[in-house]
Amino acid sequence: MPIADILGLKPGPTLLVTAGLDGDEYPSIEAAYAAAETYNGGNFSGRLIILPIVNVAGFDAGTSKNPIDGKYPKYCIPGSLFGTTPRLMRRIVQDYARHASLWLDLHSAAQGETVIPCLWNNISGVAAIDARGEAFTRVSGVVAAVREQGSTATRTLAKYGCTYVLAESEDEEQHGHYIDRAMQTLGMIPSVSSIRPPRVFTKTRDLETLEDIPGEGEVLLWKKVAQPPHPGARLGEIAYEEITE
Ligand SMILES: [Zn+2]
Repeated sequence: MPIADILGLKPGPTLLVTAGLDGDEYPSIEAAYAAAETYNGGNFSGRLIILPIVNVAGFDAGTSKNPIDGKYPKYCIPGSLFGTTPRLMRRIVQDYARHASLWLDLHSAAQGETVIPCLWNNISGVAAIDARGEAFTRVSGVVAAVREQGSTATRTLAKYGCTYVLAESEDEEQHGHYIDRAMQTLGMIPSVSSIRPPRVFTKTRDLETLEDIPGEGEVLLWKKVAQPPHPGARLGEIAYEEITE
C-alpha cells in the first residue's frame, strides 16, 4: 500500500487522508497523490499522512470491493484480526487513524455512478470529536452533508480521539479542496475566507435507478447511470430533496 507520511516544519495535529478504499474511484486517488506532491516539503504544521490507494487489489482489478475476499474496506472500519480486508482496516486504524485528529476518507463516483459533492460526518456523541466534524463540514464546500447517529466505526474512532469524515465528489479539484480545508480546520495551514455552509440531512437512502424518486426527509446524493461514462460524457442532472420536518 502506498504511504506518504510527511512531517510539517512546525509541530501540530495529525491529519489522515485516505483514498481508494473503493478501488475504482479515481478522482480521489489522483487528488491524494497531488496533495502528497504539494505538501511534500512540509510547508504546514503537524503531520500529514496520505494513503492514496488503500484497496490496491481492487485498484488493480478495477473494482470497488477487495477481490481477495469480496469485501468493501469502508464497511470493515474499524477492522478486526479476522480476514484480509478487516485486517487491512485494523492496521490503518491502529497505525494511523488513532494518531490522527481527523480522518478524511475521500470517495468519488465508482464506474457507473454519478455523485454530487457531499459528505458524511456521523454523530459520535463525543463533543470535541463532533465539533471538529462540524467545523470541517461548514468550510468543506459541499452541497449537502449527512449527519446520522454514529456507527461502531465512528464511535470507536472517537474513543481514539479521531473524527471520521467521508467526503464524496466526482471532481479531482474538489477533492483537493477537501484536503486543504481539512488542514485549515486543524490549523495546519492558514485559513481563507469561509464558504456558505451546506444543508445538513439526517437520513439518506441508496437509489438503484434513475426512476427512483426520493421520499420525505430523504436526500438523493448519487445515482446509477445507465451507460458506463466515456471521457467528456454528460452524466445527467444533479437532484436532491430537502429534509422536511
Ligand atoms: Zn466510495
